[in-house]
Amino acid sequence: MSPTPPLKLYNTLTRGKEAFVPLDPSNVRMYVCGPTVYDFAHIGNARPIIVFDVLYRLLRHVYGAEHVRYVRNITDVDDKINARAAERGISIRELTEETNEVFQADVKALGCLEPDVQPRATEHIAQMIAIIERLIASGHAYAADGHVLFDVPSMKDYGRLSRRSLDEMIAGARVDVAPYKRGDMDFVLWKPSKDAEPGWESPWGRGRPGWHIECSAMSWKHLGEVFDIHGGGIDLVFPHHENEIAQTRCAFGHDVMANVWMHNGFLQVEGEKMSKSLGNFVTIHELLNTERFGGRKWPGEVLRLAMLRTHYRQPIDFTVKALEEAKATIDDWGRATTGVSPSVPTAEFVDALSDDLNFAKAEAHLHMLRKSEPAALAANANFIGLVLPRFISSDLAIPSLTISSGHVTVDAHATFGDHIDAEVISIRERVDKLITVRNAARAAKNWAESDRIRDELAAMGVALKDNKDGTTTWEVKR
Ligand SMILES: [Zn+2]
Repeated sequence: MSPTPPLKLYNTLTRGKEAFVPLDPSNVRMYVCGPTVYDFAHIGNARPIIVFDVLYRLLRHVYGAEHVRYVRNITDVDDKINARAAERGISIRELTEETNEVFQADVKALGCLEPDVQPRATEHIAQMIAIIERLIASGHAYAADGHVLFDVPSMKDYGRLSRRSLDEMIAGARVDVAPYKRGDMDFVLWKPSKDAEPGWESPWGRGRPGWHIECSAMSWKHLGEVFDIHGGGIDLVFPHHENEIAQTRCAFGHDVMANVWMHNGFLQVEGEKMSKSLGNFVTIHELLNTERFGGRKWPGEVLRLAMLRTHYRQPIDFTVKALEEAKATIDDWGRATTGVSPSVPTAEFVDALSDDLNFAKAEAHLHMLRKSEPAALAANANFIGLVLPRFISSDLAIPSLTISSGHVTVDAHATFGDHIDAEVISIRERVDKLITVRNAARAAKNWAESDRIRDELAAMGVALKDNKDGTTTWEVKR
């Protein structure tokens, strides 16, 4: 199946939008740099995760889910991890496990599909050593003082991705001067570990990898020497991606590591660069679970829509106002799609996304469907992982509540009046009615029935709270 028009993606390597041609349409391969698991992921980290999840969904739609392989790594060996574990007095393993668990929960709440593989750096040390050995053998790396360094001047077109010359890089970079380095820009592939630091045996003594070599090793293992798409935040272009390219290309002798390099733009919060010292540092976990930002918890789909509304290559200003606007839209779409069965995604919608993820155009189409075709709106929203609120989704079944011939009946006992048009009963009213029935059951001390209705509502995502004054209030649990 081939899309019309074809998928077009902006490639940082060529600085242009290009028709995407996979190396093998039956095995489309994408790698995205994942988190270093030492702290909660912040809202800036959420951006590549959401953007590349949409691309993953689009690729699966175009090429078939079984023909796309998405790899997003977990960096679980890093000096920041060592420092944080020591600070908290816990083991590295405890810290990385705990952080990864929160990360996975955050990402799930944001409506992202799990990548096909989430490799961990510590499980790929053998591949790292193998690449480093190749680089030494081909004259692109050298060992000195327990370290192994990549010899940057040995690679003729180093700097092609960031389009900087070696001189510019040296002038612009904060160069670490070290006696074991031959050239200023040479970077660490392997470094020695002290006894207290994590380390692995290697031909250069007990040590640990540099950060860049981790991604070269994991992408090689899971996607091969050359693959289709490599993604990440724009801040990773230099030096991280430049160095990944240098390692992989020099180890395997290809012209490219990945054909297409995609980068999402910066994120700032309320007009300022996010930083701990400015106090505007916001984690995904806080947005989802606390009222710190804007005085309320934000559902994952609201964060997702707010994020997608700025084109992925543009800088984004993350504000409470943007979240409020996204929430209003989600609520409105939720109401519009009450009781409808999602149909199939519309071609206009898929075409808009196929133009380098043009979400503005795709969203304009959604607003048009809002008026005329709510089933298509629901289908398109599902398509990009924007799951509209559960309690108003079409597949919501309330088994004990039957609507027929204009009558609403609960368990054939209670009747809620005649001539109620099934179409206009909102879920909110249905929930309220179920609560009324449950309260009647409670008054009659029919606890089994009361519990049954509570469970039924819980299955719909509705949580009840019985108040002292005999009333029951409810909220939707996310
Ligand atoms: Zn990486």
